Order: sequence, then C-alpha cells, then structure tokens
Amino acid sequence: MTADLIIRNARPFGGPVEDLFIRDGRYVAADRVHAAVEIDAAGHIALPGFVEAHTHLDKTLIGMDWFENRVGPTRNDRILADRNAKRELGIDARRQSARQIMQTLAFGVLSIRSHVDVDTEIGIANIEGVLETREALGDLVDVQIVAFPQSGMLPRAGTLELMDAALKTGADIVGGIDPASIERDPVRHLDTIFALADRHGKPVDIHLHEPGDLGAFCLELIVERTRALSLQGRVMVSHAYCLGTLDTSRQAGLIDQLAAERIAVMTVGSPSAPALPLRLMRRSGLTVASGSDGIQGTWEPYGNGDMLERARYLAQRNGMANDADLEDVARICTFGGAEGIGLGGYGLCEGCFADLVLVPARTLAEAVALTPQGRTVIRRGRVVVKGGEPAGDLPTIE
Ligand SMILES: [Zn+2]
Repeated sequence: MTADLIIRNARPFGGPVEDLFIRDGRYVAADRVHAAVEIDAAGHIALPGFVEAHTHLDKTLIGMDWFENRVGPTRNDRILADRNAKRELGIDARRQSARQIMQTLAFGVLSIRSHVDVDTEIGIANIEGVLETREALGDLVDVQIVAFPQSGMLPRAGTLELMDAALKTGADIVGGIDPASIERDPVRHLDTIFALADRHGKPVDIHLHEPGDLGAFCLELIVERTRALSLQGRVMVSHAYCLGTLDTSRQAGLIDQLAAERIAVMTVGSPSAPALPLRLMRRSGLTVASGSDGIQGTWEPYGNGDMLERARYLAQRNGMANDADLEDVARICTFGGAEGIGLGGYGLCEGCFADLVLVPARTLAEAVALTPQGRTVIRRGRVVVKGGEPAGDLPTIE
C-alpha cells in the first residue's frame, strides 16, 4: 500500500496556496492523514491530471524509424496511405501505445481516450494490442478504447462484425466516421452505430469532419438518435468542423441542441478547418474536450501529446490572449475532457482520486502560455514523475 502523502504549498488550479492530503489514493481531510510522506510543491500550480480525450495510440511511430510521408492531400488519400503503412511498417499496437502513454505521462496526462482501428485487413489485432498495454500500465493511466472503423464500415463488408467483436473483447466505446463523405449514407451509418451502442450498452464517439450544411445535417441526426436512445452524457462528436463554418444563428442553434442532449464536442483546434467558436460553445454550457489526435504517425508527423501545449494551441487558434480565456482552455484540457469522456472521481476536491500534475508557473495563464516542463506527476497518491524525470519503479518500455 502507498504511504499517506501531504503536498505542501500547492495552488489548486492557480488559486491560493493550500496543502493537499492524500490517503489510499484519494484526497482526504487533514485529520485523516498520519505518518505521511511530505513533498513541497513550492507554490506550483496543481492541476488534476490532463485528459487526452482523442488520440490514436495504435498508430504513433514514436521510437520507430522516420516515416517519409508522401501522402496526397485528401482524407481518402490519408486513409489509404495509413492502411498501406500499417501493412508495410508492421506497427505493433501494443508496443507503440505503451511508448505514447509513457511519453505523455511525463507531461501529466493521466486519462486517455484512444480510437483504435478496426478493419478487414487487421481485424481486431490493434484493439487486442492496446488492451494488453492498458492491462500492463493500468496503475499509471486510465485508457478508454474506441472501436474505430477508420477505413469505413458500410462500404467494407465484414467491418461491422469486427466492431461487434471488438466491443465483446473489451473496447469501451462505439466509434463512427464521416457518415456522408466516407460512409455515403448518413442515416444508415448513424442508425447502425447507435444500434450497436444500444445493444452493447456503450457510449458513442464519432469522427465528424463533414463541413457546412452536410455536417449540420449529421449533427442533427446525432442529436435525434441520442435523444431517442436516452444516451445523454454518453455521446461525443470529435472535430465537428461544421460548427466553425456555419453562419452565427445556425451555429448557436446547433450548439444549444448539442448542449441540451449533453453531447460533448472534442476539438484539437485543427489548422485544416476554421476554428470552432470556443467561447460561444463554453458559454452555452456545451461540454468541450480536447486531444492531440494522432501524434508522430503516418497521418502527420507532428505533436508530442502534451495537453498543456494543446491548451496553448487552442488559445492561439482562437485569437485568445487574456488570462480568463487561457484559464478556460486549461479547463477544457482537464475538467472538460473528464466530463466529455465520463470520468468518475475526477478533480482536486476531497474524495476525488489524487491524480495531479504540479506545473512550475506563477499563474494558470502563465502555465498555458509558457507550458513549462519539469513537472511533477502524482497518480493515486504516488509520485510517478518528479521534476520531469521518472520516479519510482516505472516499467521500461522496449
Ligand atoms: Zn482522430
């Protein structure tokens, strides 16, 4: 059992200095902690562990040879190149997912939702690989697995059966993909994945890149199905580019509908689409989460998985400079993500899991603007990264 822990002089979410008391992996009242180990946070900002609400753990090339990317400009070019690369490079989903998790642990990422490919070439091998990693690294990070039909579901016979098998094997969430431009049949695609979710009692997470009216139509179909199946709080739309391209009254109407059904939106602040109206989304009570999407993969070579850098990027992408906005993007990468992916026991209050990251900064806005490294990461009351360096007996990844 881990010893009780007292963290002196921390500033929860950038507020006044406090001491935090931890017993059995959770925050408790001061008088419940005895014979504790103490650490001095020296006034650093204490944030609950960052939430990576959208990545692709099975596709990162971290630690592998440089991949010379010759992919064409369209999404279908990328899907084809990605499938070919998986075959040619022999990407080992178990090893690669472990590499990404250990890399982002040092940044303070303690919860991850990963889309994992299911298709008729690889079957559910990648799901099984990421499940193995989740089992091995479960003490360090929570991992949710989305069964994701990257290559399309309706046009590729056999994919739906593989999705079903992935969910039976341990995937947590039903994934969907562009119901019109890839699936060519929005109603049938959404009916199929929502039926799958209903049958398995699982949440839904849909990649939706469709622009303008086409995207808005798909969002309306998602709202209808969420309401019909009482899936409020269990549906996420990833990207939702259309929200950035509609006129303002249409934008506001759709955002209100999403908020009413407690459908979360995940945005990475993609540079390849107009920025989403973050302030309006937050003001409307919509749950907004963020993520890195694929990092260092065959889709694109960028990214390191640091969710504090993602917060800064979201702020820059939305032309934000004032401190309150910077604090709000930090909230998106922590509490927003936790709500979006349905984490229990998340936060910095008594009773919550003691999963936190100490960031050396004077204010939360400064933390977002400068993204300092040298962070200390605590998982269930155990120091796993100290000043940016692995602490304790962390597993070594091949
Ligand atoms: Zn994605």
